[in-house]
Amino acid sequence: TAYLDRIDALNPQLNAFITVDRAKTLAEAAAADARRAAGNAGALTGVPIAHKDIFCQQGWKTSCGSKMLDNFIAPYSAHVVEQCQAAGLVTLGRANMDEFAMGSSNENSFYGAVKNPWDLHAIPGGSSGGSAAAVAARLAPVATATDTGGSIRQPASHCGVTGIKPTYGVVSRFGMVAYASSLDQGGVMAQTAEDCALMLNVIAGFDERDSTSLERAKEDYSRDLVQPLAGLRVGLPREYCAAGLAGDVGRIIDNAVAELKKLGAEVVEVSLPNTQLSIPAYYVIAPAEASANLSRFDGVRYGHRASEYKDLVDMYEKTRAEGFGSEVKRRIMVGTYVLSHGYYDAYYIKAQKIRRLIADDFKAAFASCDVILGPVAPTAAFNLGEKSGDPVQMYLSDIYTLSVNLAGLPAMSVPAGFSDNGRPVGLQIIGNYFGEARMLNVAHQFQ
Ligand code: GLN
Repeated sequence: TAYLDRIDALNPQLNAFITVDRAKTLAEAAAADARRAAGNAGALTGVPIAHKDIFCQQGWKTSCGSKMLDNFIAPYSAHVVEQCQAAGLVTLGRANMDEFAMGSSNENSFYGAVKNPWDLHAIPGGSSGGSAAAVAARLAPVATATDTGGSIRQPASHCGVTGIKPTYGVVSRFGMVAYASSLDQGGVMAQTAEDCALMLNVIAGFDERDSTSLERAKEDYSRDLVQPLAGLRVGLPREYCAAGLAGDVGRIIDNAVAELKKLGAEVVEVSLPNTQLSIPAYYVIAPAEASANLSRFDGVRYGHRASEYKDLVDMYEKTRAEGFGSEVKRRIMVGTYVLSHGYYDAYYIKAQKIRRLIADDFKAAFASCDVILGPVAPTAAFNLGEKSGDPVQMYLSDIYTLSVNLAGLPAMSVPAGFSDNGRPVGLQIIGNYFGEARMLNVAHQFQ
């Protein structure tokens, strides 16, 4: 009730939630109480959670930030939501996001931009800006989120919370509205690495309904939290101190590295030479996959349908013209273009080759270190409206997050300091495949 009251008081300013339903939340809370009374409670039973509006949740509107799904009530729940329910977590509401998770500032939401709780003029980051703002403003202790090219880490960094994107395949994508399926991965945000570890224990695990879900033994992600860092080798990529990195962000990262050294870490310089190419490669591959995934929104099966049309093709056209926002349309056009005959080899295949080179860069780097450290974004949160008219400027701000998704690696953002204008800045910790527990250990010791 305290969280619901706080949401009522602050959400009108922050716009972190698209849907709040007090009656539903209270019913879930009562069920959690009953479970506790019956002696069936787990560690997180009764803990409130906000779900990013990309995870289908039975009986709840699941809009994915789009007019296209503004009337869509999910008939089933995503694997991640099912796991949370099984653990007894109580749904507080559905968090705002960029439309179909396309964006870095949350300004692409059909429901309006989310405000950064630290400074209402600043973007919260995107696409999981609602999740990050909700956790930062204490509207929820934890939130689910997804990361296709940085959408957990970058908003976590800009809002001063902790966020983890697991190794691709560790968290099932079943029931998660697809953006770019080979890059999309669910994860969580919370105040601390410890809370993230406990949540990852809930949402990770094999699910046969996602063909890329990995069949591995269950892990306890909190097992290494208290391990000392002596002997840890941290890699600093030369390319991450590039031109374009703001001075204040660079200083915060330097201080974080110094702090980890004091805790026993040893620093090694590594190189990720294809970092610059992650932007063009990602912004070919992600739109290509999106153009295929979003073809399902045709007005026939679910979601928005134009009210007047001449024939079937006219219905498709009007439905999609009305239902999608401009960034989504831009990506569908780019995606269909790079997949079309005559351009496929020049763009799509080339981008896939670069993707391999990027994964190989990480493989070489991890030969000499255990985790890689760097910034999450080149600057602290920029102002609302500052980049919304210039998509390329917006894409360039994803430079430090995209490579991780292209390689399928796990990564985190951990609060590390404040910019010259008082906005939070996160430290990025990149792990090797299945290195979540090690990353969480580093983050916990740092915190
Ligand atoms: N900013 C990136 C994009 O717009 C990443 C988004 C995401 O991770 N969902 O595609």
